[in-house]
Amino acid sequence: MKDNAFRIAVMPGDGIGIEVTEAALAVLDVVERRHGLAFRRETVPGGAIHYRETGVALPEEGFKAAEAADAVLFGAMGWPDVRYPDGTEIAPQLDLRVRMELYAGVRPIRAIPGVPLALASPRASEIDLVILRESTEGMFALRKDGVVEGDRLARDTMVITRDVTERLSRFAFRLAARRAERRGQRGKVTIVDKANVFRSFAFMRKIFYEIAREFPDVDAAHHYIDAMALDLVRRPWDFDVLPTENLFGDILSDLGAGLVGGMGFAPSADVGDAHALFQPSHGSAPDIAGRGIANPTAMILSLAMMLDWLGERHGMESCATAAQEIEDAVDAAFGAGDVRSHDIGGRSSTGDIAKAVIARLGEAA
Ligand code: ATP
Repeated sequence: MKDNAFRIAVMPGDGIGIEVTEAALAVLDVVERRHGLAFRRETVPGGAIHYRETGVALPEEGFKAAEAADAVLFGAMGWPDVRYPDGTEIAPQLDLRVRMELYAGVRPIRAIPGVPLALASPRASEIDLVILRESTEGMFALRKDGVVEGDRLARDTMVITRDVTERLSRFAFRLAARRAERRGQRGKVTIVDKANVFRSFAFMRKIFYEIAREFPDVDAAHHYIDAMALDLVRRPWDFDVLPTENLFGDILSDLGAGLVGGMGFAPSADVGDAHALFQPSHGSAPDIAGRGIANPTAMILSLAMMLDWLGERHGMESCATAAQEIEDAVDAAFGAGDVRSHDIGGRSSTGDIAKAVIARLGEAA
């Protein structure tokens, strides 16, 4: 192992999180060899089953390992019957987001060749947008600390801060500029809010447009959340980067995944200024866990996002190249019909899909 190896904290978690992590690590093995890269992997135990066995969902050493690593590769955590005493789910990923200040939830929604699309329009194959879910505040700011008064009323509080909105907005414009360069077209950032009704959203939008002035080469626009729900079904190919509040982003990213084949095809990254965590958008999927039929594509594409992020952050071209190669290999494997996952009516196992992507990677020039 090289001394200059990247340190990766690997958190497979529960259910299919474990299965898709194994598939992604097999792809990472190949990338290491192809590009002479090295990744020192530290497997970090945690999740709902870990909580059931030990009483702790993610031990303090797990948090420390995540903070010390160059990046975190995360499967999925949570299990239906395993709950904290107050009835809430085991979701240490939410704690990781807050603790490591991973404010930017990057959720690419891209049509993959060969994967059936929800929309009949021929333009559906052009879908290529990113939902940017603010991931540390908004409606999730207080999380379990919402208030129930007597048995009479319940109150949760929305929190939007200037600091996080500025950072999220800058992140969105930089992302759009980078995508514009790659795609050879002008970038556009559209904030999704409800600024016509809530002060918090009016405040968020005001700050967004202040920051937009720093990026004259990228277009800035706004859209109400309700109209966006309509337009993401009616004309998703018209959108580029969509920053939004935490809960809105949570909902819209599932809608987006539904447009391009479902959760098995939806990667994600939770990025902050100092740390980043990469995970598929889906959960532990107890209904299919242990059967070897989970679709690892979202996880493999999340791995590609990790490589891209590391490449940009550390100025390592080979990492960015490897990321693009993985994306191309996924497109080739599905596009040519090498594999068809169970979630889109096929019979390919988790391992089959990893192998097909690896075979296509071997063909990359
Ligand atoms: P969470 O709340 O943790 O996001 P969830 O229970 O809402 O989890 P998922 O675990 O994502 O949802 O599963 C939702 C549905 O999608 C399930 O029927 C599951 O089998 C399916 N699913 C999710 N991910 C995959 C995948 N990678 N491959 C195949 N099917 C999947």
